[in-house]
Amino acid sequence: MVVLEDFTRISAIQTGYVERCPRCGRAGIEQHAADGEPVVVHSEISEVLGDGMRVEPQDCCAVPRT
Ligand SMILES: [Zn+2]
Repeated sequence: MVVLEDFTRISAIQTGYVERCPRCGRAGIEQHAADGEPVVVHSEISEVLGDGMRVEPQDCCAVPRT
């Protein structure tokens, strides 16, 4: 089963863990890419597999380190 989670649509700024992207102004969740660079993920695809779950960012912005 594949689920697309779109954080820009959740009226979730209220939930606390979603924040506004400094690059595009949409809501997203700050994460760290594999290379350690901070990114704001706006949507991701999660797929439930037999041995776990695979999550892949679908739409994200790289955020300049402050
Ligand atoms: Zn953005």
